[in-house]
Amino acid sequence: MKIVRTVKEMQDLASRLIASGQSIGFVPTMGYLHAGHASLMTHARAENDVVVASVFVNPLQFGPNEDLDRYPRDLARDEAVCVDEGVDYLFYPSVEEMYPAGKRTTALDVVSRTDALCGTSRPGHFAGVVTVVLKLLNIVRPTRAYFGMKDAQQVAVLSGLVDDYNVPVEIVRVATVREDDGLALSSRNVFLSDDERSDATILSRTLRYGADLLLGGKHTPSEVEAACRTFIAEHSSLARVDYVQVRTYPALEETNVCEGELILALALHYAHARLIDNTIVVCGENGGE
Ligand code: AMP
Repeated sequence: MKIVRTVKEMQDLASRLIASGQSIGFVPTMGYLHAGHASLMTHARAENDVVVASVFVNPLQFGPNEDLDRYPRDLARDEAVCVDEGVDYLFYPSVEEMYPAGKRTTALDVVSRTDALCGTSRPGHFAGVVTVVLKLLNIVRPTRAYFGMKDAQQVAVLSGLVDDYNVPVEIVRVATVREDDGLALSSRNVFLSDDERSDATILSRTLRYGADLLLGGKHTPSEVEAACRTFIAEHSSLARVDYVQVRTYPALEETNVCEGELILALALHYAHARLIDNTIVVCGENGGE
């Protein structure tokens, strides 16, 4: 596997690969790779001639009081995961390489799908995400780009991005990888204390509880949100709720009926980590399945 550190080298490589008719599968990440990221790479490896992964902790998508400075980083470990997964090129640019000082003449913003979930609790986050992903797609020019449904709102926003700007790439959604006890893998799980790690099963347990209520057809989405909050209060002693929301998916609009594709998503704060998770349910015409 080759590590590529400059935009120019990556673009030259991509041009050569495309000219020789090879398909490129791309897995963008912020590093500190785990089995969730590896799953995206497995899919990319199976479906493309060449696999490119990137590790870039994008400062633009972190708010002023978020965890940019202490976001976990470990290139040696990331390299090992990429080699194991058969990645051909690891794009590993510096912040200066991606955002040369004083060079920006435009700023991308996001006009829908961000008035809910992480869009409201992390103002500016998705503007940072679409900016970096559009840049990465222009640099790597992949045939397919792989994103995890753990960040389902990100998938919805990025699908909008490639539609709006006619980016010639297929967005591939990959299912969330979980620990045996249901906790979704996340680079931020390392910030949990032992007690918090045990408590954190509350995320997936709440999703199962809420999904059953949605599918049962007897409760409105706002009743399910309230029931989930009560469930968390009763079963977790350490988590503080950021949000619990039910929205349509992928439009992320409010709804008061359990009909069609819905997302139940939540974000919880622990002392040094904010964790997110979600589930998507497909409700029948009259509510329930
Ligand atoms: P991150 O490094 O957290 O920015 O994530 C990079 C990519 O990996 C994103 O598309 C995430 O949705 C995806 N991802 C993160 N955690 C998981 C997981 N537990 N299962 C599947 N995909 C994941």
